[in-house]
Amino acid sequence: QKRNPNEPEFHQAVKEILDSLVPVLTKCPQYQSAGILERLVEPERVITFRVPWVDDQGKVQVNRGYRVQFSSAIGPYKGGLRFHPSVNVSIIKFLGFEQILKNSLTGLPIGGGKGGSDFDPKGKSDNEVMRFTQSFMTELYKYIGPDVDVPAGDIGVGAREIGYMFGQYKRIRGGNEAGVLTGKSIQYGGSLGRPEATGYGCVYFVEEMLNSKEMSFEGQTVVVSGSGNVSIHAIEKAQQFGAKVVACSDSNGYVYDPEGICLETVRRLKDVERKRISEYVKEHPHAAYTEGWMGIWTIPCDIALPCATQNEIDEASAAILISNGVKAIGEGANMPSTLEAIDLFLKNDVLFGPAKAANAGGVAVSALEMSQNSMRLSWTFEEVDSKLHQIMKNIYNSSVQAAEEFDCAGNLVVGANIAGFRKVADAMLAQGIV
Ligand code: NDP
Repeated sequence: QKRNPNEPEFHQAVKEILDSLVPVLTKCPQYQSAGILERLVEPERVITFRVPWVDDQGKVQVNRGYRVQFSSAIGPYKGGLRFHPSVNVSIIKFLGFEQILKNSLTGLPIGGGKGGSDFDPKGKSDNEVMRFTQSFMTELYKYIGPDVDVPAGDIGVGAREIGYMFGQYKRIRGGNEAGVLTGKSIQYGGSLGRPEATGYGCVYFVEEMLNSKEMSFEGQTVVVSGSGNVSIHAIEKAQQFGAKVVACSDSNGYVYDPEGICLETVRRLKDVERKRISEYVKEHPHAAYTEGWMGIWTIPCDIALPCATQNEIDEASAAILISNGVKAIGEGANMPSTLEAIDLFLKNDVLFGPAKAANAGGVAVSALEMSQNSMRLSWTFEEVDSKLHQIMKNIYNSSVQAAEEFDCAGNLVVGANIAGFRKVADAMLAQGIV
């Protein structure tokens, strides 16, 4: 804490991981003598930079850009870019740190990184977003490349932003290095199945947890927070699996639709019209809209999929979910549950799929996008989706096995952390003190 003051989110992510690594460090002293943990919590590189741009009124605006290149132990840095006013070095470091073990869990050769800016795309015109992203890339391009560091999307960064950034990268560098960014549109090197991957992957992971207790999504009531990329595809797959999704939200409030959320409306409002979720009730008057996003967890459900942002389920919300009989949590967002909330879920035997395992489907398909770019091939949606499904099963199984091996059977927080950590630690041991 002394070394990284004012970084509460980063401390939280480190604490969750380090606490769960105690059994592996006790059994494997070689990790301690090689200073693996001390090195792992220190990013290889933290880059911050000025992003000046001109708004539609001709006024100069200045934002701050970040890229944290955390670990290249098992492959090029890989992780998304987040554009949101709350972005600061603590948020980017927590996301980058989580990303190291998440990427390792996918079984694919990708290191950990994350970046973004405190720019708020909400309410900005297309031209403003383009001018901002071009300015952002004019600095970022120096540090990235298909074999060095491969950014993708995250909150506030979707196909539009990735497209503008790719255009600017190409213009500066020349050539056409498709593999420098993932989450691209399909016409210029994107992968089918990438937009769906995080949400679908999260549902595949939860389905594995449910199956282990002879349950499934069929007939369950589900609450999904957020209404962005991850949420929309989690809703879609949960509905395909026979669940009834009754609520979703944005940063202003949440919608409760007892008849089941109409995904077509949500998609149009968010993806096409870029409107607020409150508009949903105008088309579905039997549904109710309530101000305040945290209230969504008071809605009784069997399965909760937090897919919006960090720390959206605190201890009080977890207690309400439990008293309402929740059976499973699948973290689609990064670190959506506080440490206290996680403790409560585990103590009450709620099936708990931690973010770095449950939401790893996005980065896994990003790595598949990199493979397709290298091979200059495009796989079909079915091919990508079936690879994703298998990867999520593998992540589930390796987390279960690691938890059992280290005497924490059923605790997937510990299992996922240990399974992800060992591969990175072994790679670091092999590469010497660097
Ligand atoms: P989007 O920007 O597409 O959607 C984010 C959603 O969450 C929006 O509905 C947004 O509402 C809501 N939200 C954002 N911030 C807050 C906040 N502070 N309080 C309440 N609601 C908020 O992002 P994604 O769907 O891509 O990402 C969602 C989460 O999933 C993030 O934690 C991200 O790190 C994680 N993730 C994403 C991956 C991906 O492939 N996209 C991969 C792995 C993890 P509003 O519109 O009002 O801002």
